[in-house]
Amino acid sequence: MGMMRQYELVDRVKRYNPNTDEELLNRAYVYAMRAHGTQKRASGDPFFAHPLEVAAILTELKLDDATIVAAVLHDTVEDTEATLEEIETLFGPDIRRLVDGLTKIKKLDLVSKKAAQGENFRKLLLAIVDDIRVLLVKLADRLHNMRTLHYVPPEKRLRIAEETIEIYAPLAGRMGMQELREELEELAFRHIKPEAHATITKRLEEVTQREGKVIGEIESDLKAKLAERGIEAQVYGRRKRPYSIWKKMERKSVSFEQLSDIFGFRVIVDLPEDCYRVLGIVHMTWPMVPGRYKDYISTPKQNDYRSLHTTVVGPGRQRVELQIRTDRMDRVAEYGIAAHAHYKDGRTTGVVAAADESRAYQWLRRTVDLLAEGDNPEEFLEHTKLELFHDQVFCFTPKGRLIALPRGATPIDFAYAVHTDVGNTAVGAKINGRIAPLLTELQNGDEVEITRAEGQAPPAAWESLVVTGKARAAIRRATRAAVRRQYAGLGRQILERAFMRAERPFSDDKLKAALKRLARSAVDDVLAAVGRGEMFSGDVVRAVYPDLEPEKRAGADAKAKPSGKGWFELRQGENLKFKLPSEAPGADAIPIRGLGGDLPVRFAPGGGAVPGDRIVGILTPGEAVTIYPIQSPSLAAFDNEPERWLDVRWDLDDKRPQRFPARIQLNSINEPGSLAQITTTIAEHDGNIDAVSMVRPTPDFTDVTIDLTVWDLKHLSAIISELREKRVISRVERVVA
Ligand code: MN
Repeated sequence: MGMMRQYELVDRVKRYNPNTDEELLNRAYVYAMRAHGTQKRASGDPFFAHPLEVAAILTELKLDDATIVAAVLHDTVEDTEATLEEIETLFGPDIRRLVDGLTKIKKLDLVSKKAAQGENFRKLLLAIVDDIRVLLVKLADRLHNMRTLHYVPPEKRLRIAEETIEIYAPLAGRMGMQELREELEELAFRHIKPEAHATITKRLEEVTQREGKVIGEIESDLKAKLAERGIEAQVYGRRKRPYSIWKKMERKSVSFEQLSDIFGFRVIVDLPEDCYRVLGIVHMTWPMVPGRYKDYISTPKQNDYRSLHTTVVGPGRQRVELQIRTDRMDRVAEYGIAAHAHYKDGRTTGVVAAADESRAYQWLRRTVDLLAEGDNPEEFLEHTKLELFHDQVFCFTPKGRLIALPRGATPIDFAYAVHTDVGNTAVGAKINGRIAPLLTELQNGDEVEITRAEGQAPPAAWESLVVTGKARAAIRRATRAAVRRQYAGLGRQILERAFMRAERPFSDDKLKAALKRLARSAVDDVLAAVGRGEMFSGDVVRAVYPDLEPEKRAGADAKAKPSGKGWFELRQGENLKFKLPSEAPGADAIPIRGLGGDLPVRFAPGGGAVPGDRIVGILTPGEAVTIYPIQSPSLAAFDNEPERWLDVRWDLDDKRPQRFPARIQLNSINEPGSLAQITTTIAEHDGNIDAVSMVRPTPDFTDVTIDLTVWDLKHLSAIISELREKRVISRVERVVA
């Protein structure tokens, strides 16, 4: 390929801009050619061929003289003797500013040096925000470099390809330049995943061999159908690119064979209303695939993209994707912000102002404003990069606060991201000023306003509808709190009756005074514990009125059968630990329902679950499922990994009763025989002790941790109540891991 000649460049510009300043272009050509002199590219071509190719790419976007000249000059200051002062003298301040911006971002490493990434990305955005033409030249520069990447030494290739796919391609997309984005992605994909690229390309060839004629059929079919109704349209069929197929395969985890829509069609008409007429004709000709119709004409995307999308089942039951739009919409879709920056009516000063009007440009401005506010560029980069990636949406509160959410997020996720209270009291949403269902999928740039009602609790069903871990965990907590309130209500009824039976007055204040004796920190805890059956109403009555005679509890006594296990004493000033053979079920014998697969199941070490506990399984992929009681504090650690939570239930066999491991902690007065009282009490009530450990923090008290096995929660609660009766024990609590 020969280097573009001087007159060729001028001709290319003249074709769309008859008023071009030929003399300026010629001067730039000669200046850059001299500056680069004998420099060579990795390909062996003269270096000067590169800025010319970059300029040529920009002529395809029909850009103004300053942009074309800046492209020709873009590598001179960094790589040659040329200076910005000289460029200003020869080409004026506008072009100097563009070249300055390009020089500043030339050496930015946006992927490999992690520490500098954020700062570099900030520099990139700052350099492009004042004049979008800097980005346009940079993108064309990168495109040409990617087209010639195979000449670059392999060790450098990957870094450039990664930077392209992570930063520049998404940035092009965000600016609405789809064609450019796709080509950048395609070229980068080839280098990053060469095998995947080769495989998909080969498969695409095979499909095209087999079914490629469908493209022609559909094209002529559609054209004829439209002509019958007097609509003149251009119809283009095309095969999708390997990278977009690869992304779809990854996103939906499907194989190539399962991918049905490999061909896409574009119908270009004159007027917006024709788009809808075409849509009607298409839907009457072929069955539409539900859920695939999108109207981006009435609601354009944030990068100004406008089009109708639909998918139909076409000839040969081939699924066919269609994009229907006007010529003008098509240009914006292809060129994005560059379409706004087009050379217009001989004015070369209006470029920035025109770009200013576009929403893509507004996004850029807003992003940079946020940059100015933030003090952590790394964190910012993470967010921005994620947004550039397509698995994220960025939304805003009415006050302009940015909320980053995973794609698929709803206003409920948004509400919880703002604040847990906002989520818990959310009853409705407005998206971009319009009332919308709380389950609407949010789009990039949406402004979301949450309507709240105090005293509202989130419906438990939301838990499965939200996508963020934060929302899911908060809903679960709120649901749990609601359940707790129900138990507390039940507990209150039980207690009111119990106090009535004992002919003693009941009040929250009385209960409050007895909290210490009940080893609870709040009245509600007591009420909920009674409601759940973890605490007996009689115990509460006696805690409030210690002078009352203890009631006999037939149930507990009937079960009591001393095991005869010996007792032990802690010598003064000593710590002691011992362990007995456990009766807890082995990993294969834990009776849990709700688990697929063959993963082993275990109880959380250090205080497991017993039947009667509401339980949850936490999946450690490839290892095991660990069962936790739902009130376990350890669960907080998994709040942000909702995918690891498994809904599980007990699956007990009444005919084969089993013991389960539990742990209690108590605090005992140090007096002779105190430990014996504890162990005997447990043994008399049919608890089996597995292990005991004791520490003596003060001369008067000993902290005792006991691992024991029990039949179920009722049994455990009975043992705990019984221990609380003992004068030598000041505090007994169950411990869950
Ligand atoms: Mn360059």
